[in-house]
Amino acid sequence: MKVFISADIEGTAGIAHWDEAERTHPDWAEFRALMTSEVVAACEGARTAGATEVIIKDAHDSGRNLILDRLPDYARIVRGWSGHPDSMMFGLDESFAAAIYTGYHSKAGSEANPLAHTSNMRISRLLLNGEVASEFTINALCAAGYGVPSVFLAGDEGICAEARAMVSGLAAVETLDGRGRASTSISPAWSRRLIREGVAMALSGDFAQALPAQAEHYEVVIEFNNPTDAYRAGWYPGARAHGPRAVAFEHKDFAEILRALVFLKV
Ligand SMILES: [Zn+2]
Repeated sequence: MKVFISADIEGTAGIAHWDEAERTHPDWAEFRALMTSEVVAACEGARTAGATEVIIKDAHDSGRNLILDRLPDYARIVRGWSGHPDSMMFGLDESFAAAIYTGYHSKAGSEANPLAHTSNMRISRLLLNGEVASEFTINALCAAGYGVPSVFLAGDEGICAEARAMVSGLAAVETLDGRGRASTSISPAWSRRLIREGVAMALSGDFAQALPAQAEHYEVVIEFNNPTDAYRAGWYPGARAHGPRAVAFEHKDFAEILRALVFLKV
């Protein structure tokens, strides 16, 4: 059994400030270690459930956060950014049994995490078929395009609620609860235990309900903070202005939405 892990940092237990997520800041060293510990716990849970191979996408910022020497010997890691539209899911294909998400966070426009955002800080909201979407929304549909179910997520309470609503068979572990610029978090040790046990249980169960519903047609709307970003994005083939600060793009094929996002959200 091959398992894919997409690892972010803004939903790691304990995190509360951007300084802790930025590699140029001294606070990052502690939080890259905590991010790594949650990924290792997910690997161990997968191993318990019978995973023979785990591929991890380091999916935060530079794509170079995880402390490599702490990863188990059955893991491979994708670091950096290829430019492939799968982005935070790059490395995934039809051969995987399941996708897992660690360190995931609430979407732009939410107050459920001090670090809530979608893709980057220039986007105020990203909408998919009229609903405000998160990075998880996009990535779970990316996985579904390969027929891969999304079975487990660890992250803040907001993204856990959203992920459960989108994927009924998904198990989620709540690492923190954001209020304004504060976060209330479980301890890293508790988070690691819940992740290890939660992944093992999720991968031992039935994945049938862990594929999100796929639509016949997709419309993505990206609302930017700055109208100049919307003007620039409007030059992508098929994109159209959607008010002064937003751009819209439609396609029946979600892979084309992923391709467009590479160029629209830069
Ligand atoms: Zn991130």
